[in-house]
Amino acid sequence: MAILPIYTYGHEVLSKVAKPIKQSDAALKTLVEDMFETMHQASGIGLAAPQVGVSLRLIVVDISVIDDYEDESPLVIINPMILETEGERTMEEGCLSLPGIRETVTRPAIITLKYRDENFKEHTEKFDGLNARVIQHEMEHLNGELFIDRLDSRTRREIKQELQAIKRGDIEAEYVLAEK
Ligand code: ZN
Repeated sequence: MAILPIYTYGHEVLSKVAKPIKQSDAALKTLVEDMFETMHQASGIGLAAPQVGVSLRLIVVDISVIDDYEDESPLVIINPMILETEGERTMEEGCLSLPGIRETVTRPAIITLKYRDENFKEHTEKFDGLNARVIQHEMEHLNGELFIDRLDSRTRREIKQELQAIKRGDIEAEYVLAEK
């Protein structure tokens, strides 16, 4: 397993629409393992492939490190599609590609998701709570978007300096960052 550098705001790969995965193979399984390792080392609970510089529709999620979610299994989600949403919930979010920035975001509370796992088996499953939140956040990365795109213009102005510093690479994090 390897720890991969994390790409931050300003890197082009984060604004690209990622490509669907056509099959599961050894290279994909290695990427999945490396992404879990990278995410755990960075104390993250979700990671999308574009965040490690790979423009593919793959995300990993593991919320079991958070209190009250110890029993939740890690998730490998390939080519996800949201079939249905229910309700609405507002929560604070952060992102390994935006070190130091945390803002509240409103999203659907429950999602019905169609996706494939690391063996390319298809699932249709309902997610709520923190898993629904993390999956939706990570899916935005697959569409070349970031959670800051959802903030109102006033909040965007307030974090403008911080965003520019991240863009310049003028930041520190407790995990490995890709060079600017
Ligand atoms: Zn993120």
